[in-house]
Amino acid sequence: MNQTAQYTALTRELPSVAAVDLVTAGTLQLVVTCPNCGAQHRHLGLGLRRSPCGVFYLVSRTEPIAKLSAA
Ligand SMILES: [Zn+2]
Repeated sequence: MNQTAQYTALTRELPSVAAVDLVTAGTLQLVVTCPNCGAQHRHLGLGLRRSPCGVFYLVSRTEPIAKLSAA
């Protein structure tokens, strides 16, 4: 077992960052501009992610899929 005493608590307000689709060779990646360091990070999926610089944020799509409620 490799339990560490360090515990990273999530901040109360999780920043949400808009992702831009990046299609590489057969793979879809999501590029976000980091709210922490300002660099661009790549992720493989949406949702709660941890950036390489050590912060957490929610990766969301730039154009969210809207559900049409109208009949
Ligand atoms: Zn960063």
